[in-house]
Amino acid sequence: MIDLLNLPGVKPVDYFSQNHGITVVAEALDGDLPLCADCGKPMYRHGKRPNLFADIPMQMQPVRLEIFRPRYRCDGCGKMATPELMFLDEKHRATKRLVDAIRERCLGMSFHALAEQTGLAVNTIKNIAHDLIEELERTVHYETPIIMGIDEVNIAGKYRCVITNLATNNIYQMLP
Ligand SMILES: [Zn+2]
Repeated sequence: MIDLLNLPGVKPVDYFSQNHGITVVAEALDGDLPLCADCGKPMYRHGKRPNLFADIPMQMQPVRLEIFRPRYRCDGCGKMATPELMFLDEKHRATKRLVDAIRERCLGMSFHALAEQTGLAVNTIKNIAHDLIEELERTVHYETPIIMGIDEVNIAGKYRCVITNLATNNIYQMLP
């Protein structure tokens, strides 16, 4: 089967359309047996477990990845381990490339439209957008205006104070 995923560490083995979306079944490539993080003994294979993750859309349809990852077990202490896949964002149950694509679009599109396109829940889109906005608030610093403009604008039924930098035609700050 052609590698239509192009993700490191997994190979697609099947794909099918279902519920207005595409499911791609992939297997994690099996490497060497890991050592137990707690007692250092070599671990044993202990079955395979599928997990679902959202991925970037294909053919204008949401994509779900069903990834089968091996599980390992330590005979000494009973600890279980699953190999990590670098391209996954486990917190959002999605691939990192999908989260990146949503970050690029979430300030210019509605959360509902993005949820429909990607198959993710609206709340997941909202969380990704909030993380991005928090990051921008921490990292983006606005130049102090030399010529300041002040006006009000009605947003969501209430007037907000808008301060602009007239020299650069940018918003400087919005106040309640
Ligand atoms: Zn152990």
